[in-house]
Amino acid sequence: MFKLTEKIAVVTGASSGIGAAIASTFAKAGATVYVADRDVDAGRIQVELIQRSGGCAEFVELDVTDPEQSRQLAQRIVEERGQVDVLVNNAGVGCVGTLLETAEADFDRMMAVNVRGVFNVSKAFLPAMIARKSGNIIHLASIGGVIGIRDRLAYCASKFAVVGMTKAMALDHARQGIRVNCLCPGRVMTPFVEARLREYADPEAALVEMSSSQALGRMALPEEIAAAALYLASAESAFVTGTAFVIDGGWSAGK
Ligand code: NAD
Repeated sequence: MFKLTEKIAVVTGASSGIGAAIASTFAKAGATVYVADRDVDAGRIQVELIQRSGGCAEFVELDVTDPEQSRQLAQRIVEERGQVDVLVNNAGVGCVGTLLETAEADFDRMMAVNVRGVFNVSKAFLPAMIARKSGNIIHLASIGGVIGIRDRLAYCASKFAVVGMTKAMALDHARQGIRVNCLCPGRVMTPFVEARLREYADPEAALVEMSSSQALGRMALPEEIAAAALYLASAESAFVTGTAFVIDGGWSAGK
């Protein structure tokens, strides 16, 4: 079950956190994984870690906000491998603040990476998938793309857009052999969240507060999100498309 033998996978933002866990989980399942990130040093370390544990991975530099870089990367991988089976649009950035507290530049950055980035990279890889009538695209949305979160105006706006793109893409391309789903995690302990915690006067109290919004009373591990990505990437989820898969420790179940 959940094998990715002989599959070619591209994971954006895979130098850190959830993306790194997805890359390593996919490699363990037998895929050849392209670790695509703008952070070159951390990306090379991730690739080394995967290779040392017997997996197959390669680092590729990519800024998802750049459509031309995205196109060139897709062309290169398709030329090298003849196919891309799984694309994970994981690269993303965060931003704290209400509407009045959010600077225009921060709102634009959130849209450029979290929304336009998903658009750019999907647009670059989709034609080759359609040509083979086979492809699997997984976006990293967030529970903030399903319910509102206080003080996360720009982040929620961007992640609701990712959920919307997931559903529209799933409908547009289902009959072309393409499945499109997104993951909606609650709070996951990654460098992304560690950076948010450091912005608080009392990071330990903030961690307790953040954990308590999830019914299970703890943060998720990146590997727990990667396990869901593996399910969506595998043949076992063949009938699943257009879904926003919530993994939030019960956060959105109610108070
Ligand atoms: P992270 O900060 O640990 O990793 C994000 C990675 O994306 C980094 O390696 C970074 O270099 C890369 N990146 C950022 N901008 C990029 C760009 N323009 N081009 C290429 N790469 C870029 O973050 P994470 O917590 O692992 O989050 C990964 C994804 O999961 C994000 O989309 C985030 O919104 C989403 N998410 C995270 C949480 C959480 O609690 N950590 C919860 C829900 C959703």
